[in-house]
Amino acid sequence: MINKGGNYYRALEEITSTLNKIKNEREGLQAVLKIITRALNGDAGIIMLLDSTREHLLRVATYGLTEWYLRKGMVSAQNACLSEVLSGKTVVVGNATENPHVKHPELARQAGIASILSAPLIYQEEVLGAVRVYTRSEREFHKKDCAFLETAAKISAMALGNAILRDTIKKETSMESSLEPDLTGRLSSLTSQIRKPSQFAHPSEEEFAKLLDFYRLEWIYEPRSFTLEKDGNRIVEMFTPDFYLPQLDLYVEITTMKQSLATEKNKKIRHLKELHPEINVKLLNKKDYASLLAKYGYGPLSEAKVRGIGKVLITVNRIQKRVMEMAREISIDYADRRPMLVGVLKGVVCFASDLMRNISIPVTMDFMAISYYTNDKSGPIRITKDLERSIKDRDIIIIEDIVDTGMTLHYLMNYLSSRQPASISVCTLLDKRVRRLVEVPLQYVGFEIPDYFVVGYGLDFRGEYRNLPFIATLQHEDKETRQLPPTVPPPPDAALLQV
Ligand code: 5GP
Repeated sequence: MINKGGNYYRALEEITSTLNKIKNEREGLQAVLKIITRALNGDAGIIMLLDSTREHLLRVATYGLTEWYLRKGMVSAQNACLSEVLSGKTVVVGNATENPHVKHPELARQAGIASILSAPLIYQEEVLGAVRVYTRSEREFHKKDCAFLETAAKISAMALGNAILRDTIKKETSMESSLEPDLTGRLSSLTSQIRKPSQFAHPSEEEFAKLLDFYRLEWIYEPRSFTLEKDGNRIVEMFTPDFYLPQLDLYVEITTMKQSLATEKNKKIRHLKELHPEINVKLLNKKDYASLLAKYGYGPLSEAKVRGIGKVLITVNRIQKRVMEMAREISIDYADRRPMLVGVLKGVVCFASDLMRNISIPVTMDFMAISYYTNDKSGPIRITKDLERSIKDRDIIIIEDIVDTGMTLHYLMNYLSSRQPASISVCTLLDKRVRRLVEVPLQYVGFEIPDYFVVGYGLDFRGEYRNLPFIATLQHEDKETRQLPPTVPPPPDAALLQV
């Protein structure tokens, strides 16, 4: 018999006996969440655990949440309300649609959430995640409600911690060493196992969601339908974008249909923009999508066999001249500031060293490296080589080889901003503006290039071509079908090879 509400003693008794009985952690948490939600007279609940980077929370148990809420991807731990919970506090949100801590009140409204009570899951003084209970109508939570949730969360965290300990002992006694560095790291295997993907209409959408997860961009699948045409009270035409990215306030529609069939969709998006000019929506058509995946070694274009260099897009002379101009601009802009140049390995090596040699003011230089998207098992993007010195109160100039979708730079800027530098600006050699998905401010741009995959001057294709002194496109074996057509014509001297 499940507790119907208010009787917290009984609920705590049920929680302990449930956790004592059930071996599988996920099933245990699922059952406990149901008891907690019902005891608090809530309508829905969720248990989330921090991933190994402690920057995101992954759902491990849900109860009574609407279909809409289940379409969400991973949740950022920086989210104002959650970050307070993750600092160890119990947080009450009386009215989610009006509370300044709730980042997207319109989304809360849409999900039918009025009040939220959240408590941290703490095990041996380490916060592992959070448990939340939602109500559909506005509701006051009192001290005893908070105390109940805190205790229930402590018991659940203890059970989780013990399960991990048990697992570690098992591994140690069977002579297998635990490779995970810490408690949260060990939890990540649990969260990755039990995270259920939303129901996607098309595999391309699922792949795109994984990519967003990798770049730690929050998403909601099919978040909202827009009315495009009405006949009296009858809705004649609607449009539901595939994704909403709350951090960027951006809707994304992916179409993998043939270009001829995609025309109708284009028309709908144009119509949507006319009716709602305030809405930021981007369309990824079949070609955009294929070249996006190809960059990470996926999709039809990734199988293209490369014969060698196609055409030289930017000659040695043009590169050298432009790098000197950029160095001069930086030397003037930062005349009395001693900036720190931060290069992102490895593509940036040629550009960074040429740029630095031409800067005439005192500067320091450091490098970072980040992980690449390979498949969904690689986990979210992370720093594989961090800076050696503190950047607090320093003027930082990020040096990039190329900015394409902007997702890498967006992550990097968030990461560096959290370390309180005095300022951050970006200097990139190449800007593939036509493919931008995430807007990122670029202060110094060497060249804007069309939608080609380029190599040379540090940039590689499967590890090769970095040593070319110029920037070139690749030549594919089946040129007709494999080569990505440029969306902007190449510069007039592109065919000239000046070495
Ligand atoms: P973004 O996150 O802006 O989509 O991608 C940035 C990273 O993708 C760059 O740092 C670079 O490693 C890679 N990239 C994007 N476009 C190209 C390209 O045309 N050639 C090469 N070699 N790498 C690219």
